[in-house]
Amino acid sequence: MRIIVTGGAGFIGSAVVREIVNNSSDEVLVLDCLTYAGNLANLESVSSNGRYQFSRVNICDKDAVRSSILGFEADIILHLAAESHVDRSIDNPGVFIQTNIIGTFNMLSAALEYYNKLEADRKEKFRFHHISTDEVFGSLASDELFTEQTPYDPNSPYSASKASSDHLVRAWHTTYGLPTIISNCANNYGPFHFPEKLIPLMILNALDGKPLPVYGDGLQVRDWLYVEDHARALLTAAKKGTPGETYNIGAHNEVKNIDVVKAICRILDRKVEKPSAINRFEDLIAFVEDRPGHDVRYAIDATKIMQKLGWAPLETFESGMEKTIDWYLDNEEWCVSIQSGDYQRDRLGVIK
Ligand code: NAD
Repeated sequence: MRIIVTGGAGFIGSAVVREIVNNSSDEVLVLDCLTYAGNLANLESVSSNGRYQFSRVNICDKDAVRSSILGFEADIILHLAAESHVDRSIDNPGVFIQTNIIGTFNMLSAALEYYNKLEADRKEKFRFHHISTDEVFGSLASDELFTEQTPYDPNSPYSASKASSDHLVRAWHTTYGLPTIISNCANNYGPFHFPEKLIPLMILNALDGKPLPVYGDGLQVRDWLYVEDHARALLTAAKKGTPGETYNIGAHNEVKNIDVVKAICRILDRKVEKPSAINRFEDLIAFVEDRPGHDVRYAIDATKIMQKLGWAPLETFESGMEKTIDWYLDNEEWCVSIQSGDYQRDRLGVIK
């Protein structure tokens, strides 16, 4: 198959591209404008493969999007390009509206023009798969799970922009017949994760002997999925999913933020030497002002994708976390180079 991956230089997108190149015979074209979150080093291991191509395209540029999509003749478009960090959406919501909403509109417009020109047998195969988040559903009470029927209730500028793009994708299926799939996923973690997100931030701060800033009381619950399990789920849904359907993706790993941080500290206590000023890495934990509008709990019911499409995660939270920490310990050069720009692990998303 021929697959376009937007946002393929980012954290999840690069895992999808590595999965395609390493574990299939499919061809892939990455469209990515390389924001602070996009990094070609994430794709270095596949960059010399003849089935991989990269094109620097901003999805807000509708002419560039159109010529890329009409030119490549894809069977599947996996649309991951987005602004993805909630704290940044609090500081600067405008770019989230442009990329996540207008950018998705540009993708849908070009994909529909392309789809309408296809022969019947290629139309049958074509899928536009939009990658979204469980954050569109808002915050959960303690005993509930998000299902595909949960009403949308987004709380942050990020989740509202993703909810908006989900609605556009749904409308392009219902109104124009574009064969779309939407997936809503739990929090991802794993290799190549930009250090503004909780897990890599804690690992790298701990290794530097810096405070481990936990928002509010740290009791917020997130449902964690290893990124390579997500990449396999996305390719499964794109190839086997039914057009017009949505699929929730998660691995039933609900963990409080404070317990995520403590788990990282325990693994680091075993693996690396502690800075001399502390007895255990947990001593570095520092509670800081909470994120405005911080959702209390997310938890995914992934029964549909497991039963209907036969996907299942391979990693537990413990095995995935062990692999993740090993990866950060082995890839110091990546960690240094990715922080050489503006981002220096400062606190973002506090309303002043
Ligand atoms: P990321 O921030 O690591 O990567 C985003 C990528 O998109 C980067 O390579 C960036 O350069 C590119 N990009 C941003 N704006 C662009 C534009 N205007 N034009 C072209 N490229 C652009 O994000 P991620 O964590 O890999 O998330 C990927 C997708 O998955 C997003 O749509 C996100 O909403 C969704 N998602 C993420 C998570 C998570 O836990 N990270 C969970 C569920 C869903």
